[in-house]
Amino acid sequence: MELLEERIRKDGTVKEGNVLKVDIFLNHQMDIDLFNEMGKEWKRLFADCPINKILTVEASGIGIACVVAQHFYAPVVFAKKTQSLNIDGEVYSTKIESFTHKKIYDVIVSKKFLSPDDHILIIDDFLANGCALEGLLDITKKAGATVEGIGIAVEKGFQQGGDLIRQRGIRLESLAIVESMDAKTGEITFRH
Ligand code: 5GP
Repeated sequence: MELLEERIRKDGTVKEGNVLKVDIFLNHQMDIDLFNEMGKEWKRLFADCPINKILTVEASGIGIACVVAQHFYAPVVFAKKTQSLNIDGEVYSTKIESFTHKKIYDVIVSKKFLSPDDHILIIDDFLANGCALEGLLDITKKAGATVEGIGIAVEKGFQQGGDLIRQRGIRLESLAIVESMDAKTGEITFRH
């Protein structure tokens, strides 16, 4: 998506450790007009899918998911990070290793909000090694829900997550795929 690539070129900064900082518009301060355009694009790409629910993970996926959901007329469910795992059987749970914080979180979704009737679009801000997505896919599997596809704002194509997901035959639509980025020069290239 040209608009998103342009914005990453203009406002993104490359940090050591393969981290792209886009907090000016994506995951701290949020450009809602841009999110709206992203929503339109995913709606176009997933027009043939019977999506009735959007699933994301806190925190940075939530803002994007909420704006995108307006294009699908669907509610948003977000997986919550939790310290104390509720083991009373009322939640689906899984573990996610955070790429940016190098920490393992338990994440949960109440059984009330996912069921075998659901056709899910998973939305997240970044795809790196794929841990966050693996966790969300695990939760949908436990719920017996159907994953219609995954929408990612920024995929880092030089990390393994995108390949792992596509190899599993899951439809993945990343709006910008970073091919390479250099912390020293700040140069960012995109895959098309
Ligand atoms: P993964 O689980 O695919 O390794 O990483 C995805 C998660 O890590 C995303 O939800 C995002 O919050 C965070 N993340 C991964 N790479 C980056 C990055 O380059 N920049 C930022 N800001 N967040 C990232």
